Amino acid sequence: MAQYDYLIVGAGLTGAVFAHEALKAGKKCLVIDRRDHIGGNCYTENVKGINVHTYGAHIFHTSDDRVWNYVQQFAKFNHYVNSPMAKFHDELYNLPFNMNTFSKMWGISTPEEARQIIEAQKAEAAISGEPKNLEEQALSLIGRDVFNKLIREYTEKQWGKKCTELPPSIIKRLPVRYIYDNNYFNDCYQGIPMGGYTKMIEAMLQGTEVRCAVNYKDLIAADPDIAERVIYTGPIDEYFDFSLGNLEWRTVRFETEVLEGVENWQGNAVVNYTSHDEAFTRIIEHKWFEFGKDEEGNMLPDTVISREYSFTWQPGDEPYYPLNDEKNTQLFEEYRKLAEAEENVVFAGRLGAYKYYDMAPCIAAALDLAEAELGVKAE
Ligand code: UDP
Repeated sequence: MAQYDYLIVGAGLTGAVFAHEALKAGKKCLVIDRRDHIGGNCYTENVKGINVHTYGAHIFHTSDDRVWNYVQQFAKFNHYVNSPMAKFHDELYNLPFNMNTFSKMWGISTPEEARQIIEAQKAEAAISGEPKNLEEQALSLIGRDVFNKLIREYTEKQWGKKCTELPPSIIKRLPVRYIYDNNYFNDCYQGIPMGGYTKMIEAMLQGTEVRCAVNYKDLIAADPDIAERVIYTGPIDEYFDFSLGNLEWRTVRFETEVLEGVENWQGNAVVNYTSHDEAFTRIIEHKWFEFGKDEEGNMLPDTVISREYSFTWQPGDEPYYPLNDEKNTQLFEEYRKLAEAEENVVFAGRLGAYKYYDMAPCIAAALDLAEAELGVKAE
């Protein structure tokens, strides 16, 4: 008899949601993570009273009632609305692309004026048929000025490739609005869990045995029959020892600074740097995700900022953004076939699925997996 019903590899969102549902269904689970903490890339660490998003900004947003209702069990969400600013040389614009952006760019004030300029620039770009790459997608969506000032160089920094070499799908998620509305997302629900994501994931894992700083391969080598089944949320190619080659990712490196005695450094949680003047893509000032206050509502006297730099992933780096181009999609398909043949191991989550999941779809997929695995209703 195995000691556990499930070994869950990875204490991020997918692992924590599955563990919670499995515990409810009466299963005995062990969750392991090779990092020395839970939370995966959602992990937040409290520094000077500020919940720092150690692995990059995470803003929860969804229109899925099931997911939104689900997370309410584990945290109270604040009313944070993501409204990033974009800096191009010394010009500052609102994002996403909306009337505030357009009026600043062209000195106009009505939607009709904005529409005329954008339509003229779209016509000038003369993209016929379906856009073939990101540049064509951007030009046919928003025209030359916005593309040049807010998209081209940012995207080159972010992906390390020319916009003509990237798929249109990357920017399809960015809204274009002819109203004065700086909300980055179109979803019904949005917010940040008060007290940080680590606390929320801790609540999901309550009652489950968790061991951090434990490597899956070492554990399995020492005790191959430790669990009946494995839910593996690590990188799928790494599981197979990169036998078919590695999947490509972009990684992000963070340069984080604690600024003591500085109450307000950039006046917003997110500022994108959309030109090549700076090598970083954006700066996050973490305190503004929670309105600069501690849990008692007192204004915090210090601040923490993180500059984000994007690089090609090398072995040993953290994988962030999957490069879902043709070559990698095919390679993933090969790994998926190997995964299917792997008895009693289920691959899940962003790393297991090689998908650029936001948090909400990640939770939805974990709930579906729990229902399929455990034969119960996950809610
Ligand atoms: N993007 C851009 N300029 C910006 C913000 C985004 O050109 O100021 C493009 C860029 O190609 C990026 C994509 O839009 O990769 C998706 O941006 P999003 O903010 O959704 O990415 P994330 O926050 O997940 O990194």
